[in-house]
Amino acid sequence: MSAHTLIAVPIVTADPPLDVQVCEARAAGADLVELRVDRIANVPAVLAWLAQPRILPAIVTVRSATEGGAWTGDESGRVALLAQLAELGPEFIDIEHATWQRSAALRQTIGERRQEAGPAAQTRLILSCHSATVGWDDSTPLPDAGATPPDLGSVLDALAATPADVLKLAIHARDATDACRVLEQLARRAPQRPLIALAMGEAGLATRILARKFGALLTFASLRAESRSAPGQPTVAELRGLYRWDHLGPRTRVYGVVGWPVTHSLSPAVHNAAFAATEIDAVHVPFPVQPGRSGFAAFMERAAGNRELAIAGLSVTLPHKENALHWLDAQGFSVSPLAGRCGAVNTLVQQADGTWTGENTDGAAVVTALETVARCRAGGLRGACVDILGAGGAARALIAALSAQGCRVTVYNRSDERARRVAQELRCRWLPWEARARYAGDILVNCTPVGMWPLVEESPMPDDALRERTVVLDTVYRPAQTRLLRAAEQRGCATVSGRAMFLAQAAAQFELWHNRAAPIRAMEAALVGADV
Ligand code: NAP
Repeated sequence: MSAHTLIAVPIVTADPPLDVQVCEARAAGADLVELRVDRIANVPAVLAWLAQPRILPAIVTVRSATEGGAWTGDESGRVALLAQLAELGPEFIDIEHATWQRSAALRQTIGERRQEAGPAAQTRLILSCHSATVGWDDSTPLPDAGATPPDLGSVLDALAATPADVLKLAIHARDATDACRVLEQLARRAPQRPLIALAMGEAGLATRILARKFGALLTFASLRAESRSAPGQPTVAELRGLYRWDHLGPRTRVYGVVGWPVTHSLSPAVHNAAFAATEIDAVHVPFPVQPGRSGFAAFMERAAGNRELAIAGLSVTLPHKENALHWLDAQGFSVSPLAGRCGAVNTLVQQADGTWTGENTDGAAVVTALETVARCRAGGLRGACVDILGAGGAARALIAALSAQGCRVTVYNRSDERARRVAQELRCRWLPWEARARYAGDILVNCTPVGMWPLVEESPMPDDALRERTVVLDTVYRPAQTRLLRAAEQRGCATVSGRAMFLAQAAAQFELWHNRAAPIRAMEAALVGADV
């Protein structure tokens, strides 16, 4: 086996036959398979497969229900099955640490088997701890709530005191701060002893991707989304395609997108495509961080303050743009004048001296996205009348950037109070939401989420209120063609998709992080290829 972190594909059913699934796993690029015997109802099929020559090495696991597995029989039956499986000499056997401590018979059987087989043919023993036994699962409150999470270091110390060949820790990540705790342990301990450390759940995805950077023995990835053996497990195709697994290594710099939710963010696809095109040794991963200022600060403290994690830059999305600004202020770090005026930061950059700076690329992105079309439709941006629907973070960035271009901006918002405040702070005009159908401007921009997937048939503007000479931009980018844009096209308006803005803001982020021109074509191709 290679010295790289291995990809293990879990097998959770005997239908299709194990041979077929293992062949498929090998063709997909897996290095080994994990036979989840607790979930494969057909034990004889597993025994028969193990008794034959294998085309891929195998881990056998009979996970107990108390550690998140599916074994429903009694404990003595499970222990007997583990002993029977060990007799067939799989490359690895995974036994819960608690079971190992409890069962002298199992310790004896495995010990005897190891002695008989000799060092070359030995089954390597994985001793594992999972959420339930670590005392850390979904129901454990986040640190915000004042809870002291269990110390992962002492859990791993206890595992390290056993004769295990491989130590395994799998906790349930409540958000990306937990994922960073796991990565810290991996970075510290993997060089000393073979280790598998991962965080389950969508918030733990970074641990599964960065396992290779930090030298874990293996990571788990399924063949298909429906054959995952644990929540948050990526597919082999995602790992090797979207996250460029084969290119990750100890020096890979880490970037990510912080938001809640961020599972469907297009940022990783676009930035990873840019890293591939420019051959930059970096990876961009999702970091789901629960809403709230203290949750954001806790994540930054854990992630940004840790040299081993080497997080070099972050995209910031809903609902953390204001929290990012507040965090930078509280740390005494600098915020660009534009981001300060918008009251929102969407890009964090780590400087060479370890400090962080904040920028907002949303506003400039709209200027870029509008410039070409506005030049021919409305005589350019200077002096153009722009009507903006919405008064949230995106609207603020757009108002600041478009005002700086000499546009005359009017804002319309569902709640008057917010529109009034934004207009006062950013020195533009505001009108009540109901007045939007009588807009007078050259350019109309939707900065509300109305029309976003899944409510794709909604529009923030009555179709018949749209007028032919207007340039219409919808900041919503899922779907690419919103109901508002469709109606605008039917009226003969020029339209600009939120995808164009998304691309421009991501390109500006790339340039801030790497100080070089962004590979726009590759980023655009990734955006078009992303299935949303
Ligand atoms: P935000 O700060 O939460 O503000 C949302 C705004 O939309 C508020 O003004 C809110 O009005 C209004 N709104 C929400 N639901 C509404 C409804 N049903 N009817 C009418 N108004 C409604 O969010 P944001 O950061 O500004 O983001 C807004 C949109 O911009 C999102 O769809 C986001 O995807 C998009 N965006 C796109 C890009 C890009 O690159 N394409 C970048 C950034 C943002 P109230 O004040 O009355 O609540």
